[in-house]
Amino acid sequence: MRFTSVILAAALFGGCAHHAPTAASNESKTYKNIIFMVPDGMGLADVTAARNHLYGTGGGRLAFESLPYVGYQQTYSRDSFITDSAAAGSAWASGEKFDNKALSCHDQAPKDGKCDETRKHPQTILEVAKAQGKRTALVVTSDITHATPAAFSSHVSHRKCASEIFAWQLRIGVDVMLGGGTDVNKEPCLLPSTTDNNASLAKAEAMGYEIIRTKTALEAAQSQKLIGLFRDGGLTPQVHKTEPSTEPTLAAMVHKALRLVEGEAGFFMLIEGSQIDWANHKNDFAYQVGEMIDFDSAYKEVAAWIKDRDDTLVVIVADHETGGFAINGPKKAYADASNMEPAWTTLKHTAVDTIIWSNDARFGGAKENSDLYALMREAMGQ
Ligand SMILES: [Zn+2]
Repeated sequence: MRFTSVILAAALFGGCAHHAPTAASNESKTYKNIIFMVPDGMGLADVTAARNHLYGTGGGRLAFESLPYVGYQQTYSRDSFITDSAAAGSAWASGEKFDNKALSCHDQAPKDGKCDETRKHPQTILEVAKAQGKRTALVVTSDITHATPAAFSSHVSHRKCASEIFAWQLRIGVDVMLGGGTDVNKEPCLLPSTTDNNASLAKAEAMGYEIIRTKTALEAAQSQKLIGLFRDGGLTPQVHKTEPSTEPTLAAMVHKALRLVEGEAGFFMLIEGSQIDWANHKNDFAYQVGEMIDFDSAYKEVAAWIKDRDDTLVVIVADHETGGFAINGPKKAYADASNMEPAWTTLKHTAVDTIIWSNDARFGGAKENSDLYALMREAMGQ
């Protein structure tokens, strides 16, 4: 049944028999490395828009569209038909449905940062990788403590508890963390508030992390334990960025992170194009397209790195769609960068399913977001 649906999915969604391994050959394959990429808030129309912006209708494709297996997932959370990034990230990270705002934590508590450890919380996939001796990395364009990376690297009852999230990231010992959010003590919920926002970073330094703030420092970095925080809050949107900039692109962060965590043991890496969501919340087309292209450039780094290897699983999937984004025209003409007619139905998230791209057939077909956890564990041989 499963085999049949995978074949059907491959046929429906363009899996290519000439270039892709058969579904059967992937059934029991395990991988040393897992790269999980999240274009936060991206719907299929965002892909159409970025592709047309770059290539018009002439047949060009975004780089990540070359991945051979395509599926889709339902995104609802435990307490809402419309998920947020915390619950959606937690479903992937921990294999269960969680309440909106919760980070791999089942507490019903209000915003208090703690997560009742007497209750059983599943190990996140990042923790599973860590327990296997693998190296781990979070590479994002939001604050490093933002919902998606936090869902993989903490058990906290509310996504706003940045200080508690960062404490968890140190406790788990995530090896490489690159993104925004220079104030890791922003919005402490449970820990004593402090005016010294370097307190937790000082703790990280004492644990052996190198902490860097600029693109130049990133290029030079050799540390096996690295925290790069390049701006307060999220990184500067591509559409507003002026060069020279001290901030690296997502692609530059991915390039370095891959080289810092690769090795015998293997790794788990989360990469997030965090601000596709933020652009859609603003119904801002130029912002959206800029972040889409940034995300696809990051995939190109991944594609170059995995080119001659078969030991690395790549999964790309959005946590939810944001904005109800659509392209209403032009009619009776083809679209290019200048004449698309963007439209949104909301400033918020929507309930529609999101697309999955992968180099492994098991990720094709119809899925729940929480299914991806077990598939990743299986792919890790767990
Ligand atoms: Zn959002």
